[in-house]
Amino acid sequence: MIISEWIKSSTEVLNNIGIKSARLDSLLLAEYAIDKNRTYLMAHGNSALDKKTIDYLNVLLARRYKREPLAYITNKAWFYGREFFVNEHVLIPRPESEDMITLALELCRGAGLVVDVGTGSGCLAITAAIELNNATVVAIDVSKDALEVARKNAYSHQTKIKLSESFLLEDIPEAPDLILANLPYVPEGLITSPEIEQEPEVALFSGKEGLDLYQSFWAQIGSKYHNSSGPLVITESLLSQHNDMIALAASANYHLVKTLGLAQAWKRG
Ligand code: GLN
Repeated sequence: MIISEWIKSSTEVLNNIGIKSARLDSLLLAEYAIDKNRTYLMAHGNSALDKKTIDYLNVLLARRYKREPLAYITNKAWFYGREFFVNEHVLIPRPESEDMITLALELCRGAGLVVDVGTGSGCLAITAAIELNNATVVAIDVSKDALEVARKNAYSHQTKIKLSESFLLEDIPEAPDLILANLPYVPEGLITSPEIEQEPEVALFSGKEGLDLYQSFWAQIGSKYHNSSGPLVITESLLSQHNDMIALAASANYHLVKTLGLAQAWKRG
């Protein structure tokens, strides 16, 4: 079998089960298994594949066929133009969360201390550490496995973020200048794709309406950091949750300063 034949037949297999990105996924699997870039694969479509490589490609294809997210198969995802290691212990970074970084750069460029709550792969914390270049960044998660992934990513991006196992802000006494919170907000039972079912539930769901953790988060914000002017807070949630978020933030004496896509920025007062 030659490279182009495998890509064609794999595209058909994935197409047949309704995967819209069938061809792209096949190309990415081939790039990963053959360890060559797209240009090489296109230029060498007629090259024969050896049996070992075909077997390996088919093992990867079988995983994708079972709706395992491509990012978990290749252990790679991109966020804000950089590559991050991901595995089944962390949510795959979503492009919409890049808006949180855009808001941070616009509203809090001089931040000295940044806290990223529910860091997962560490993509927000590490991007903040690189883009807000004078900031000290603390990345928090309840999951030890997620913190290991964040540690690995911090190392490969040569950033010195501090990792901390905590329930939301519980163990963070110092007042940060900026808090990034992309907490789980998917309402119970809202499964938007079969792939999502293979991501960690703890990173996605949060009660019936999806706002349980944000409720605890805002309660913590309301009871902490009274000796400071209050950190700027940037959150992400569904558009349909934005009004409820305004009410939760108000109970912590916070008001909305800007919305960008799913991201919202909040200030005290
Ligand atoms: N945006 C993600 C999704 O819909 C959810 C991320 C989150 O819960 N923080 O899959």
